[in-house]
Amino acid sequence: MIDFSIPAETQALRARVAEFIDKEVLPYEEQVGQRPFADIVAELQKAARAADLWCPFIPVEWGGMGLGHVANAVIQLEVGRTPLAAWAMNCMGPQDATMLTLLELGTEEQKEKYLRPLVNGELRVCFAMTEKAAGADATGMQTLATRDGSDWIINGEKWFASGASRSDLVLLMAKTDPDAPRHRQFTTFLVELPCEGFEIVRDVPTLHDAIEPSWNGEYVTGHAEITLKDVRVPSANIVGELGGGFASGQHRLGYGRIRHGMWSIARAQQAMDLAAERVLSRKTFGKPLGDRQGVQWMLADCARDLYIARLMVLHIAYCMEHGIDISQENSMAKNFIADMLSKVVDTALQLHGSLGYTMDTPLAAWYAEARMQHLVDGPDEVHRWRVGKKVLAAFEEHGTTASAAGGGLF
Ligand SMILES: Cc1cc2nc3c(=O)[nH]c(=O)nc-3n(C[C@H](O)[C@H](O)[C@H](O)COP(=O)(O)OP(=O)(O)OC[C@H]3O[C@@H](n4cnc5c(N)ncnc54)[C@H](O)[C@@H]3O)c2cc1C
Repeated sequence: MIDFSIPAETQALRARVAEFIDKEVLPYEEQVGQRPFADIVAELQKAARAADLWCPFIPVEWGGMGLGHVANAVIQLEVGRTPLAAWAMNCMGPQDATMLTLLELGTEEQKEKYLRPLVNGELRVCFAMTEKAAGADATGMQTLATRDGSDWIINGEKWFASGASRSDLVLLMAKTDPDAPRHRQFTTFLVELPCEGFEIVRDVPTLHDAIEPSWNGEYVTGHAEITLKDVRVPSANIVGELGGGFASGQHRLGYGRIRHGMWSIARAQQAMDLAAERVLSRKTFGKPLGDRQGVQWMLADCARDLYIARLMVLHIAYCMEHGIDISQENSMAKNFIADMLSKVVDTALQLHGSLGYTMDTPLAAWYAEARMQHLVDGPDEVHRWRVGKKVLAAFEEHGTTASAAGGGLF
């Protein structure tokens, strides 16, 4: 028998998080852009700490709530209702995945020096892997780190490092051995900011900024284009092993991908609710839109995909909790949930008619927000390519593709 029940304490926690978001967090949404964002975050974080809702997935000994992956997934499905909730509970990206990377790969010294203040909300971190030269294929990175005594000197460029303009630290990938096998050429460094030679050229304007400037600019504080000229980093700031940067980058992106999925589900649910509310009240040709079977089919398709997405996320969280490899499932979910979110938001926008295209509902902003899900943490095509390769490999190995298509469930 498969037991799908969520433990009572997790359900209770989910209800507590939902209540916290409704009462303490959502009222702040209308203040974004009207007051300094740092003040809003400080007030929210104080409230979250008072409610004991802080860094859900970080072990208690490091100052978090110590939740396992399933319990974390259950509450992230609530957190995703507003970016402010993640800011309040100190579990926003790329803070979250970086804390997990440090927990897994950091030295004791790095954990004390960087992880503890990150968990305390005293430091902000960004992640710089992508370059203009290379994104989907990260092994094309050109940024070079060369040894100088016990230090490393980094030269090159980065692009789309979210939040870099307001960060105190950057987790940065650079090539340390151009002659090594392709996936062993890179190393991850922790660089303290500001530092000599690390220059933010600009925050790159994006589609989301164009639609929702105060929100996006403030809460992500831009996706930075960066030049690196003789940036000096001590060897003690290498995270993981020398040459292990590619693997550690994939490790951190693994959580990021599924967490994007959890938040996308929350967003899609909000869009569906708006759609339902609208079609129940809006009449055309003498009848509420909701009475039309064609409209019901549109909502049915959204509901179906939202349901699949929830199952995917919870199953992946279960696998993570039990140490089961999730690379295939995570790629399939990343891709499916991006499609699901785009479809649900687009459907809700369509059912609002011209109102959906205005800024009088949040749908236009969510539409722009959803678009990025097809790019961040690996574009759709790369995930589908990887999934397809594993499907073929499974057939070659087992005479059936089942193990690469969810067959591992049995
Ligand atoms: C909002 C946002 C935030 C981001 N934040 C960060 C961050 O904090 N840190 C960071 O390092 N990066 C970040 N990124 C960068 C992101 O990870 C990259 O944009 C992504 O990996 C794609 O790389 P690229 O843009 O260079 O696309 P390219 O590598 O130029 O690829 C372009 C397109 O080609 C197609 N493609 C590529 N390879 C294949 C293939 N093998 N088969 C078929 N089609 C293919 C895909 O459609 C892809 O979108 C962010 C991006 C966005 C949009």
